Amino acid sequence: MTSLPSAVAARVVLDRDVAASYAVDASMRSTAPESFTVVRARDLSDVVAVLEHASATGTPVVPQGARTSLAGGATASEGAIVLNVEGIDGIRDIDVVEGHAVVGPGVVTADLKQEAARAGLFYPPDPASSATCTVGGNVATNAGGLCSIKYGVTADYVKALQVVLPGGEVMRTGHRTAKGVAGYDLTGLVVGSEGTLGVVTEVMVRLLPAPDPSLTALATFDSLDAAVAGIVALRRDPHRPSLLEILDRATVAALQDLADFGFPRDCEAVLLVQSDRPGHADEDVARFAGLLTAAGASEVAAADDEQEAEALMAGRRALYPAFERKGPRLAEDICVPVGRLADFIRAGQEVSSRTGVEILLSGHGGDGNLHPSFFFTAGDPDSLHRAEAAFGELVGIGLSLGGTITGEHGVGTLKAPWLERELGAAEVRRQRRVKALFDPQGIMNPGKVFGP
Ligand SMILES: Cc1cc2nc3c(=O)[nH]c(=O)nc-3n(C[C@H](O)[C@H](O)[C@H](O)COP(=O)(O)OP(=O)(O)OC[C@H]3O[C@@H](n4cnc5c(N)ncnc54)[C@H](O)[C@@H]3O)c2cc1C
Repeated sequence: MTSLPSAVAARVVLDRDVAASYAVDASMRSTAPESFTVVRARDLSDVVAVLEHASATGTPVVPQGARTSLAGGATASEGAIVLNVEGIDGIRDIDVVEGHAVVGPGVVTADLKQEAARAGLFYPPDPASSATCTVGGNVATNAGGLCSIKYGVTADYVKALQVVLPGGEVMRTGHRTAKGVAGYDLTGLVVGSEGTLGVVTEVMVRLLPAPDPSLTALATFDSLDAAVAGIVALRRDPHRPSLLEILDRATVAALQDLADFGFPRDCEAVLLVQSDRPGHADEDVARFAGLLTAAGASEVAAADDEQEAEALMAGRRALYPAFERKGPRLAEDICVPVGRLADFIRAGQEVSSRTGVEILLSGHGGDGNLHPSFFFTAGDPDSLHRAEAAFGELVGIGLSLGGTITGEHGVGTLKAPWLERELGAAEVRRQRRVKALFDPQGIMNPGKVFGP
């Protein structure tokens, strides 16, 4: 690679160990290539300079936030410039009247939520990685999270974007006004494009009035069908829960192995449900508890106050420590129609008992979006191979149930082999042509989404 322009030379990470930490993300099997350069951009002009240089030299560029991608979207590719934008992290123009804020792509999601709350407003997107991931990464992956059942996903909160395209041109999309329909929705195109079209350098986000603190109900079930009937009943309620999570039998056992969260080990499923409706959270949670009892829950507990609500959520919050305790895993992100959720979980349990691969099935049950975990033994290629085969089998089952290969983590590199199976060859060709319009040289995050 020819040397970078002097304006950004000072932003290059020279220490190879530090640089190596920018070459991988949080996905399984993420490994650093032989040669790559890391640039930590501080402002728009740094990004423009890198993309001008990249186009002039035909160098691949990997846009990067906090590297929490579970799909391999932010890993360095051979010879690439890894363009990290965590340093572009200003929050400005929180406008209570218009209900928006303008933020840099490097703003940590939890910080934006906190700043919005200080202004009496609410930024809903809440991936479980909120404390570390960035708004730019959330935009690029169209991240969801725990409250998607009521509030939707990141796309629902992006009003306008500034994006630097290959060659260095700065594109502005969207509208600063409350409404605006002039022209094609290029904001919607960039959201979820996983760094394959350009680099997001500014985001105008929509903010809502603040909700009430959440109250929680927890229900245990002796039957998977009853638990899914409970989810269906809650989705039919005129007031959507703000969270609706499911844990299957194996997940409950893993949590109880970590600490006593009060879950009966022999139950088939646990549901956690919340309401944050201003002035009505307590009546919602009491009604939700009644619906879950009517659906066949064996036990239901409803919180009366915030402390109790948090205590009921303790098991859900311990999920990642419980996973870590079990060892390395492949993490899935399948979304199926809610009505097929019991079929999907049963199929996962059948794959687990047939193959001997330990599979834990939990996630955003209210959206039909589960994150099955496939555990394997470190250093045992056969164990990894069996986990990969089980992973692939469950992707196929999800598709056959009318689902999608990724509900929120993105395609990245891990799901690229299945993209055509979900979309079809003609649709993939059309999407490649859209990419080529923005990125004719194919230098933006090559290998991601569409594969090699
Ligand atoms: C513990 C844990 C829990 C998680 N929980 C959730 C969850 O509940 N919901 C969910 O949706 N995801 C979840 N994730 C996945 C991950 O946090 C999200 O995909 C997140 O949006 C990635 O943000 P990031 O800043 O880390 O981006 P990165 O990982 O750095 O990048 C992700 C993708 O976005 C692109 N990108 C990043 N910044 C830009 C930019 N400025 N311009 C253009 N492209 C860019 C990258 O090229 C890459 O393709 C979780 C991850 C972990 C580790």
